Amino acid sequence: MSKIAWFDADVVTPEEIIMAADFTPIRLIGDPSIESSKVDEHIPPTHCVWAKNILEQALRGLDPEIKGVITSHGCDCTNREFDIWVESVDVDFLFYLNVPLKRDKIALKFFITDINEMITQIEKKFNIKVKSTRISEEIKLMNQIRKHLKEISEYRSNLKLSGSEFHRLVKIVQTHDKKNVVKTLIDKLAELKDKKPFIDKSKKRILLTGSVIDDSEFLKFLEEKGFQIVADDLCIGSRYFWNLVDENEDPIKALAEYHLNKPIYSTRMPSYERFIFLKDLAEKYEVNGVINIAQKFCEPMLYDHPYMKKKFKELEIPYLFVEMLYNREQYKQLSTRFEAFAEII
Ligand code: SF4
Repeated sequence: MSKIAWFDADVVTPEEIIMAADFTPIRLIGDPSIESSKVDEHIPPTHCVWAKNILEQALRGLDPEIKGVITSHGCDCTNREFDIWVESVDVDFLFYLNVPLKRDKIALKFFITDINEMITQIEKKFNIKVKSTRISEEIKLMNQIRKHLKEISEYRSNLKLSGSEFHRLVKIVQTHDKKNVVKTLIDKLAELKDKKPFIDKSKKRILLTGSVIDDSEFLKFLEEKGFQIVADDLCIGSRYFWNLVDENEDPIKALAEYHLNKPIYSTRMPSYERFIFLKDLAEKYEVNGVINIAQKFCEPMLYDHPYMKKKFKELEIPYLFVEMLYNREQYKQLSTRFEAFAEII
């Protein structure tokens, strides 16, 4: 099946619309092993390293099965990249979905209008009709996936599943045909039910938050440093499946409401709501500490950090903030910071 890729700072692209148009929605994932070459002539040196990596790959050439790309309004880096994509990336269809920054009634109306515009543009470009009944079916499928992922995520807390393995699983869901991944998730749940806890109890229980973290090897690296990721609010993690879409509502309205009301990210306001979600996770999963990772030049995270630091200090929950480059050599260079944090918590 042909694919439509999505590129956003937050997970706010309604995949159900893409599925109802008979395309496989594919999240664009970075590749920390590549160096930038083509991208530097298009962007300033202070551009987010993750978004830069995605653009580098796109400039080199996307998977030929990708027939279009949807960028959703998020941070300044992803927003400003859209113009460069239009100008320089070889892809037939590009759409900028204007997801509102606010979450009130006016924002909802605005978002519904833009989702409808996205449908119109897809219909025109590919000469198809996206039926409302079909969107409703895809919502049901995605809700099933969200429920399974949420259930599986709980096994991190009782030490039957590593954070890196779970992260890999969410990434598979975001990059493969959704119909095929349901069975993978059901099988994983069956396996976990009979499994005995195997993760060392002495590992420090952490809540992982921060920018887009799409390299599962980074989570594995944290595990090697003595941590067990028992909870997260990542886009390749909890923010992808925490809530469900209302199946009894008009499907477009339900999708718009779902994306506006899901756990908030640093690209949207107000920040304190994000803190409340993190605080609840930290308390529910009895974490020893919080690790907040910013990709280098990730402005939303840099602005959030002082507030998060202050609030976690008030709660007396140890908090570590690390800004890092998007390559695996960098993980090794940061080893001592993580090891020191594991020791003190
Ligand atoms: S990591 Fe930060 S700056 Fe980069 S795309 Fe995500 S939100 Fe934007």
